[in-house]
Amino acid sequence: IPKIRVAKPVVELDGDEMTRVLWKTIKDMLILPYLDIDIKYYDLGLPNRDATENRVTIEAAQAIKEHNIGIKCATITPDEARQKEFGLKEMWPSPNVALRSALGGTIFREPIVIPRIPRLVPRWKQPIVIGRHAFGDKYRATQRRMDGPGKLELVFTPRGGAPESIEVFEYPEGGGVGLAQYNTTKSITDFAHSCFAYALQRKLPLYFSTKNTVLKVYDGHFKVIFQELYDSQYRQLFAAAGITYEHRLIDDMVAYMIKSEGGFILALKNYDGDVQSDIVAQGYGSLGLMTSFLITPDGKTMQTEAAHGTVTKHFRAHQKGQETSTNPIASIFAWTRALVKRGELDGTPDVVTFAEAVEKACIETVYIDGIMTQDLAAACDLKDRSSWVTTTEYIKAADARLKTILEAAST
Ligand code: NAD
Repeated sequence: IPKIRVAKPVVELDGDEMTRVLWKTIKDMLILPYLDIDIKYYDLGLPNRDATENRVTIEAAQAIKEHNIGIKCATITPDEARQKEFGLKEMWPSPNVALRSALGGTIFREPIVIPRIPRLVPRWKQPIVIGRHAFGDKYRATQRRMDGPGKLELVFTPRGGAPESIEVFEYPEGGGVGLAQYNTTKSITDFAHSCFAYALQRKLPLYFSTKNTVLKVYDGHFKVIFQELYDSQYRQLFAAAGITYEHRLIDDMVAYMIKSEGGFILALKNYDGDVQSDIVAQGYGSLGLMTSFLITPDGKTMQTEAAHGTVTKHFRAHQKGQETSTNPIASIFAWTRALVKRGELDGTPDVVTFAEAVEKACIETVYIDGIMTQDLAAACDLKDRSSWVTTTEYIKAADARLKTILEAAST
């Protein structure tokens, strides 16, 4: 099969542990043999982030801005235990948070639905796409531990104005903890634009959920921005597309979500999106079937990844020389969704067709051939060793299917 030329470069961000191992297998078996592609490689593995004092993360973000497409492997966000394990100079912040703040935009998480894989929530027949606001709130909070009694205050100094002090809490004996978090009108507005635009592109109804009954001012600001943009710019477009927008209190929304059949986009604030996307991923079958992509408000720049982490448990087994069966599908879809976008931006439909063929091969390997990793077998209630294959065996099977699909297409 002749190699397909990808017109412009893509930026690859390598990662850690088990996902780093399978990342290489994916690239060697499903990407490099088929594509003539210029890959700008950045090693975001924790040892290299430490060696470069995290400069590699910033450089990667710059490269994504320049080339528009970033494809990211899962990475470790270090905590105290990781700092000790890797002997880190510093507890480097989450690369995902750094990339999100450098690029802006919104993260959408979408499950890959495979008919054979029973859903933990059996009613869910269509994907629930979670749009997660990628800026601020808890992820940019300033935290303090107060070791004794005292008063906590917030001070806001308007530019050119007098400081205004807001009393937060009077700590009793024993102290406690406190935090201040923020967001900006611009970031929330960009978030709303990305969500409305994506709903229109996918022709899916959009919900936005907050806890505005408790955080009347903070979450209320989010709600008002969405509503005003909808009324002034999107209502007619939504009507023409036959879709709707609605704000729902998050408690009501999660109840509705469980009862629904899926088939909608749910926009959420940063932390809510983090939590709900894991719930949705489990409900659909496996974290290994959850994709994640960040799109800038102008719709041009995209960074893709699997929504799961580095699967440390499997990596420990791998280090001991044991066989591992980590689901590579979401990581493969990180490559394919990015290639679809690359192809669309470059006007090269053969790249799009190739990426879609890889996705089809991955799904049919599970759906038709019944060849799957252990997590998917477990979702099917199959426990026998013969019911699942290792990661490499699965990728080999998907590659065999891919060859059949590509050969059929070329004749
Ligand atoms: P994890 O997603 O690696 O694992 C959570 C659970 O889901 C585990 O039980 C795991 O076995 C299972 N799982 C996840 N992906 C799977 C797959 N592809 N196939 C089969 N099973 C799968 O999350 P964790 O254990 O909380 O974190 C491990 C490391 O990953 C941490 O260091 C964390 O910082 C990092 N992390 C990174 C990202 C990211 O880069 N986007 C996201 C989450 C966690």
